[in-house]
Amino acid sequence: MSLDLSASAPSAPDAAEDGVWLECIECGETFAPFEAVRYTCDECEGLLEVRYADLPTWEDFEGRGRGVWRYAAALPFDEGVSLPEGDTPLHRVPRLEESVGVHRLRIKHEGMNPTGSFKDRGMTVGVTVAERLGADRLACASTGNTSAALAAYGSRAGLETLVLLPSGKVAAGKVAQAALHGARILEVDGNFDACLDIVQELAARGEAYLLNSLNPFRLEGQKTIGLEILEEFYADEGRYPDRIVLPVGNAGNTAALYKAFRELVQSGALHPRDVPKLTGVQAEGAAPMVEAIEGGADEVRRWDEVETKATAIRIGNPVNAPKALPGIRETGGTAVAVSDEAITSAQRALAREGVGVEPASAASVAGLRKLRDEGVVEADEDVVCLTTGHLLKDPDAAFAAGNEPESVPNSTDGVLRHLEGRSDGRGRLGKLIGLFSR
Ligand SMILES: *Cc1c(COP(=O)(O)O)cnc(C)c1O
Ligand SMILES: [Zn+2]
Repeated sequence: MSLDLSASAPSAPDAAEDGVWLECIECGETFAPFEAVRYTCDECEGLLEVRYADLPTWEDFEGRGRGVWRYAAALPFDEGVSLPEGDTPLHRVPRLEESVGVHRLRIKHEGMNPTGSFKDRGMTVGVTVAERLGADRLACASTGNTSAALAAYGSRAGLETLVLLPSGKVAAGKVAQAALHGARILEVDGNFDACLDIVQELAARGEAYLLNSLNPFRLEGQKTIGLEILEEFYADEGRYPDRIVLPVGNAGNTAALYKAFRELVQSGALHPRDVPKLTGVQAEGAAPMVEAIEGGADEVRRWDEVETKATAIRIGNPVNAPKALPGIRETGGTAVAVSDEAITSAQRALAREGVGVEPASAASVAGLRKLRDEGVVEADEDVVCLTTGHLLKDPDAAFAAGNEPESVPNSTDGVLRHLEGRSDGRGRLGKLIGLFSR
């Protein structure tokens, strides 16, 4: 763990407003946060980060209720457009814990947010900034969940929303949400990365305020996942988890959790040795971050062709990689790629513990299992896996992974006869296949 405890909070530059400013992670240039719309550095196009003159300690959060705005001391303001979000469960999963073979396993189920994914934590902050900047039209590119969250929070704020989706590659539940919450849905004949290229152009031309995770304010809200995990795990176990395993798409969450931990270390609220190892998981068909970590590269190579059933992480050009790679490396974590089959089997295993997640979410558990089998994760570790989205987001994937409905006669005797004949919805062949795939 190479995080430097002695690095104290920075002093505010002239650009700061109320002790908050934007800073380029590449060249260090600083900017006023709420004066003009800006997503990247004017000087070098590097990613921007929100910075604070005052960094929070645990006491600052007390007495502020639960959810994202409990952590206002770690955010640019005290309240915002809220549904409300955060305060998601940290499930115990004893059978899964035993079968994976770690000391403790908890599941932080972000699918329990208002629109069913962690994106809500970013939107409550991001849409509040949009209001403050006087934006009248909001936009995002999305594999689905960002569009659902933006549509809901945009409507809540009374603002027009545009969402750009890769045509035919977005799970049904997510498009349904964007539609009903009143977004204009633009289906692009291309993948997510192409949608993001277009929406960045629209934003650069001043046509809309961009709410992808390139927007540094979204990541501020998503930091609260890390703060909640640490607070709740500590309350239960009197210590912090050794490792947090999470699915990686654009690597916004990886960057956000790392920033949350860095700020706690800088304020003295967290000892560097207590920072959990950030461990990212991608699908084999969309694994540019894993490639960079395994190859020791400083930059991530864009994959033009990506494919996986875990559509939420079907991303070839993770925009937050420059923030996330140091997060994985400096916390002593790693990154791993898993097959779609391993993802489906983890999704089933979670569901059998009562935790219903969409495929991308199950990648965290699939990745943990693989790293444990390889001996990278050790048996005595306390691990939290992040599950990012709800089962109902992707009903087709759930049908494909779950039991087949069975037709039965319209009579009690007929139903009983049926039950005696076949106890399992998959039938005998299905059972045999199930035995071998376990
Ligand atoms: C957005 C999303 C991800 C990817 O998160 P990043 O922060 O972009 O890495 C993973 N899972 C689900 C369900 C998502 O909606
Ligand atoms: Zn710069």
